[in-house]
Amino acid sequence: MANCTAIIVGAGRGHRFGGPLPKQYRDLAGEPVLRHALRAFASHPAVTQVIGVIHPDDRDLFEAAAAGLDIAGHTPGGAERQDSARNGLEFAAGLAGGAPDLVLIHDAARPFVSHCLISGVVKALEHAPGAVPALAVADTLKRGADGRITDTVDRTGLYRVQTPQGFRFADILAAHGAARGKALTDDAAVAEAAGLAVALVPGDDDNFKITTEADLMRAEDMLSAGETRTGFGFDVHRFEPGDGVWLCGVRIPFDRKLKGHSDADVGLHALTDAILGAIGGGDIGQHFPPTDPRWRGAESHIFLAHAGEMARARGARIVNCDVTVICEAPKVGPHRAAMAARIAEILEIAVERVNVKATTTEQLGFTGRGEGIAAQAAASIRYRARSQA
Ligand code: MG
Repeated sequence: MANCTAIIVGAGRGHRFGGPLPKQYRDLAGEPVLRHALRAFASHPAVTQVIGVIHPDDRDLFEAAAAGLDIAGHTPGGAERQDSARNGLEFAAGLAGGAPDLVLIHDAARPFVSHCLISGVVKALEHAPGAVPALAVADTLKRGADGRITDTVDRTGLYRVQTPQGFRFADILAAHGAARGKALTDDAAVAEAAGLAVALVPGDDDNFKITTEADLMRAEDMLSAGETRTGFGFDVHRFEPGDGVWLCGVRIPFDRKLKGHSDADVGLHALTDAILGAIGGGDIGQHFPPTDPRWRGAESHIFLAHAGEMARARGARIVNCDVTVICEAPKVGPHRAAMAARIAEILEIAVERVNVKATTTEQLGFTGRGEGIAAQAAASIRYRARSQA
């Protein structure tokens, strides 16, 4: 089998991207962006070894990102991407196994490179000295100046190209040597400048490059689509003199009321926290501080509706929620159906997805002594892929 080396180029500092970390080291679903690409190549049967080209300051970041993966080594990049790719080729030539037969040069910030795409590039190298994944341009192209269209560009034969770009090793090494100082935008351009034929193979829309924060969010959405998460909430309010309590959005006449800054609906508070927990949205106190006069006497459906809206805004839908009210009195049973219906209405979900139940603590503890009411809640949410906003 041919020695095929993958070079993952991630030497940039991502000034365009902003933020404290270079984009290739930003977190994507719990792992650095770069690790997703490293893993794709390290686990591909046609790839013999994987090396990284990194910024000299990122040594620790790279080693942490590559921990546990079978990576042959890394080398510092240069001032421009072209210099970095050339450094990677020279490093590959000097590895113990000798110069590889084939090389795949890939952007570290393209985490969704598939095995199928890698196979397509490798396969094309049987018949051509170079191969790149490409997508035909589908949008109409315009040329413009001063905010106005000056021309419509014929898109026939125009492609967007991606990585990995594959080459026969000796050819691309020589081409990079010859192209030194020429400022070419990708390795295919280096090959073209050397007169090498470069084949186009089918690209993949998912194999996009993470350049902006919106790209990172799109990548997160792709990975979390279909994922289910669960959150948990708990709340307590004490009784004070009054004539009724709000519980799960329903008013129940009673000889006391619950004390609180808002209407003290302990059930809706626990459920709000459960939903916030499921989406990683903090807690109710962060969104509605009890010190804020706006929420004095507030009806708690506002809090729950807000949590539901936050879930929707994150591309999640509420799968189900379950609230347990813990008290000796008032009796919750007769109101359970109304409570479930009210919660379903507030969250704009089907009532079948809501459950309300009640228990006592056998006259033990503060609820047993009738000093207040506690509530627990669990909520599950499911992420769906959403188009970029
Ligand atoms: Mg509360």
